[in-house]
Amino acid sequence: MELETLTASEIVKHLSTGELSAVECTRFYLDRIKSFDGQLNSFISVSELAIETAEKIDVKRAAGKPVGQLAGLPIAIKDGICTAGLRTTAGSKMLEDFVPPYDATIVSRLNDADAIVIGKTNMDEFAMGSSTENSFFGVAKNPWNEQHVPGGSSGGSAACVAGGLAPVAIGSDTGGSIRQPAAFCGITGLKPTYGRVSRYGLIAFASSLDQIGPMTSTVEDAALIMSVIAGHDSRDSTSAKNELPDFLNSIADTVGSKPLAGIRIGVCQEHFEAGLDSEVESAVRESTKVFEALGAEIKHVRLPNTKFAVATYYVVAPCEASSNLSRYDGVRYTHRAAAEDLEQMYCETRAEGFGEEVKKRIMLGTHALSSGYYDAYYLKASKVRRLIKQDYDLAFESVDLILGPTTPTPAFEIGQHSQDPLAMYLADIYTVSANLAGVPAISIPCGLSGSGLPIGLQLQARSFEEATLLKTAHQFQQATDWHQRRPQA
Ligand code: GLN
Repeated sequence: MELETLTASEIVKHLSTGELSAVECTRFYLDRIKSFDGQLNSFISVSELAIETAEKIDVKRAAGKPVGQLAGLPIAIKDGICTAGLRTTAGSKMLEDFVPPYDATIVSRLNDADAIVIGKTNMDEFAMGSSTENSFFGVAKNPWNEQHVPGGSSGGSAACVAGGLAPVAIGSDTGGSIRQPAAFCGITGLKPTYGRVSRYGLIAFASSLDQIGPMTSTVEDAALIMSVIAGHDSRDSTSAKNELPDFLNSIADTVGSKPLAGIRIGVCQEHFEAGLDSEVESAVRESTKVFEALGAEIKHVRLPNTKFAVATYYVVAPCEASSNLSRYDGVRYTHRAAAEDLEQMYCETRAEGFGEEVKKRIMLGTHALSSGYYDAYYLKASKVRRLIKQDYDLAFESVDLILGPTTPTPAFEIGQHSQDPLAMYLADIYTVSANLAGVPAISIPCGLSGSGLPIGLQLQARSFEEATLLKTAHQFQQATDWHQRRPQA
């Protein structure tokens, strides 16, 4: 059995029949991490308890006791999500030695389902970035080409799944951080609706935008993970009480040759304008033919305020970050600088503990929120955000899904945008709007560039319509094999 080529759903089946034990499976991935993560740097920490946990699950199963839905499945968790007893750094020196006393809700749910947390993945510091170059723990590499970034901020999660170091991973997405790295690494990444998955235990970046979701090799695996992690949580006041769809049922095989009949997909004109790489454009345009052949109706839609999305995001997100990150004062969380007095201690701690990008955003956010500037920046951005949301409401009157590229280009080279923040921020141009509007969005592989790098397409849906997203994306994967391609090296 070549485990690294199996999907999580297939692994779960082999585990349930006893063909594969949890210990064998966990050991396999830990060995892969040992052999290849020196190159990829996709993990910040590896769990020392994974084998022990796997043994317990095997014993439970052997004794005929009931086991959870994911029994024995290894899973990697982005290092911005708290794991009790396992170091959680958010990619920052500030939290270099932080060991949370509690689990995030999604981690508890995965544990209750008997999944096995094998490690914590590399990320841009406090999830600020599009390349994982802003990690205190060093840059992660793209398994398709190690000269290129894996995307960010959930770059470690994407790289470890694409490189076969974990069958599935969890990421978080504030402006694209699940979808953009998924596109760059040729995997599936789902940002659920705002409020669909609990964020209790997610280290906050921008609270009105942050969302947790699965990063997997197939849509089927994304549905499987959603069926475990989604749903209301009283410990997260923004968590929604909406009824949960049967995520797995949404990807059940449909009879007939037109499984997408009745689904209207709008191609978003604004996503095909200047700045879009021609290979990405043709791969996404090609994919519309696949959806059409599957019975979907292809229409055109407009999201006219897309051109303001990046600017709006880079006011809203830093403002919220400047507030969220004020808690790292040297008193409550790990890093503390030596100093003569309290004020100096605060200043030195933050000067030493935060990296460049994080400091830049705290300054931007503090400035934009300060009296005299609030109306010009934060208030203005909030108004534009409303217009962006209204664009979606209007578009969703005539279509069920919105289709476009996930990113303007395939994965760029390490260092390529380091000196040009604007170019870096534009990597999020197609993804930030879904966060500003709160709608769910998925990225799936739809091609390879001439230089052999993955290309991703994005589908967006109305709030709480993940089931339609999953169904449509799953049918695409039934009809194509882009998701089965693996990096050669
Ligand atoms: N790249 C975006 C940023 O740097 C989005 C990050 C994210 O989604 N966490 O803010």
